[in-house]
Amino acid sequence: MRILLLGVRGSTPTPGADFVRYGGHTSCIAITPDGSDRPSLVLDAGTGLRSLTTVLDGAAFDGAIMLSHLHWDHMQGLPFFAAGDRDRARVDLYLPAQDGRSGRDLLARSFSPPSFPITPEGLHGAWTFHALADGRHEVEGFAVTAIDIEHKGGRTFGLRVEDARGSLAYLPDHAPAAGVSAELLAMLAGVDVLVHDAQFLEGERPLAVDYGHATVRDSVKLARVCRAGTLVLFHHSPARTDDALDDIASWVPALAGDLPVIVAREGLTLDVARPT
Ligand SMILES: [Zn+2]
Ligand SMILES: [Zn+2]
Repeated sequence: MRILLLGVRGSTPTPGADFVRYGGHTSCIAITPDGSDRPSLVLDAGTGLRSLTTVLDGAAFDGAIMLSHLHWDHMQGLPFFAAGDRDRARVDLYLPAQDGRSGRDLLARSFSPPSFPITPEGLHGAWTFHALADGRHEVEGFAVTAIDIEHKGGRTFGLRVEDARGSLAYLPDHAPAAGVSAELLAMLAGVDVLVHDAQFLEGERPLAVDYGHATVRDSVKLARVCRAGTLVLFHHSPARTDDALDDIASWVPALAGDLPVIVAREGLTLDVARPT
């Protein structure tokens, strides 16, 4: 599979001259399966999802969107995803099951008046809403594993996506300092690419604890423990300017040792494959 980072920011979009190089859209990753020329699996629907319409170059979206959790920065792109909001589109939307509600009702909590002008039924195209349980699933030809992870305010999944050639783990909002289960360590063991929360720095530790996030150091530590092939630092704080992210990129290799680390930026593509 190939992944395309469409939004790498946490909390809220960050427009402005200081955020041009890494990008200001909130969390969204598009995955293109081998043998295809267009993405059919999307992880999270932050404002970066808007850009997928341009990537699809006029085609209607035909695939699935999986949400790690239901915070605004992971959902607000949904109603503005033009390639999914048209008659020929097919969108299977997966939301972490919780409170005994249907997928449709989980979405409608924030996607209906008075919070938003339309309800889920107002979307054009063939949309299906699924309340996703934890465990292993088959989605768009990928083996996907969903596991509960530490964050704050509602159920949050860490997702592992695997094909015949490699594996990706996606944990955009995660507080490993609050505890990492044996089940999660097993899911992450030897993953080829780990996209992980790196919202805060050590000097901001109280904020990371309050909001249920990771620091860059937490992220590197977890990636080393699980022997990830490559770590992608993701979900940057909206306060982190391009220069501040360059600074992280300059010192993180010394912290990471032989672990390759990439500071996520919008538009970056990565081929996900086991080393040969
Ligand atoms: Zn977030
Ligand atoms: Zn969150």
